[in-house]
Amino acid sequence: MTEQELIEQLNILGINVTLEQKNKLKDYASFLLEYNQHTNLTAIRTIEEVYLKHFYDSLTLVKMHHFQNEKILDIGTGAGFPGMILAIIFPTTNVFLLDSNHKKIDFLNELIKKLSLNNVTTIYDRAENYVKNNREIFDIVTTRAVSELRILLELSIPALKVGGYFLGMKAKLEEELEVAKDTILILNSKIINKIEFDLPKEKGKRTILKIRKEKQTKEEYPREYRVILKKTLKNKNI
Ligand code: SAM
Repeated sequence: MTEQELIEQLNILGINVTLEQKNKLKDYASFLLEYNQHTNLTAIRTIEEVYLKHFYDSLTLVKMHHFQNEKILDIGTGAGFPGMILAIIFPTTNVFLLDSNHKKIDFLNELIKKLSLNNVTTIYDRAENYVKNNREIFDIVTTRAVSELRILLELSIPALKVGGYFLGMKAKLEEELEVAKDTILILNSKIINKIEFDLPKEKGKRTILKIRKEKQTKEEYPREYRVILKKTLKNKNI
């Protein structure tokens, strides 16, 4: 996808990109590919693929949510997807990019300086540690291609305020959603919407899931990470 095609496709999604944002996206793509030559950040190697599979893909979230002034946590952000792109396109949001890989956090810190972004904070930590001490404070948690849905939900929902949303992005979610049904109930949350679509140029299927937190999360969640991995939450009343 060329820059022009990106701008056109974003228009179709209802996003009008300013000249300043267009330049930021261009600088982001060049810096990512340059940095990627010495530090492994992404399997993607061309600017056209960055525009389609990282930038456009991240912004398909607007199909699911109208972003305004929210405090957003992007868990397992990697090289900044989708969180950094949301911060660039929606400058009134306050975005926290979390990853346990320090090379990715170093890259993001340099990028933030390069693009002079003042609405982004990086967090170098594991989600399971961070969330224990940062409960019920975010309006939105985003995750793209991080781990199994039931695990992600146990790490994400405690970080959300009541009424906040989890926005999960993956190629396929059907089976993981089935496994996660009890987790969703036990964590006092509810599926609001799920959409499936194709990326332009037949570049693959995508699913976005929106879940709302209905009530406060019990202190016992998230459980120890090794327990989460071993034991899927089961609702004994079903
Ligand atoms: N979200 C990005 C994207 O879509 O391009 C990166 C996806 S990458 C496959 C998964 C990222 O999640 C990695 O950068 C990894 O370090 C991070 N990650 C996985 N488990 C994590 C955890 N428990 N806490 C924090 N980061 C985690």
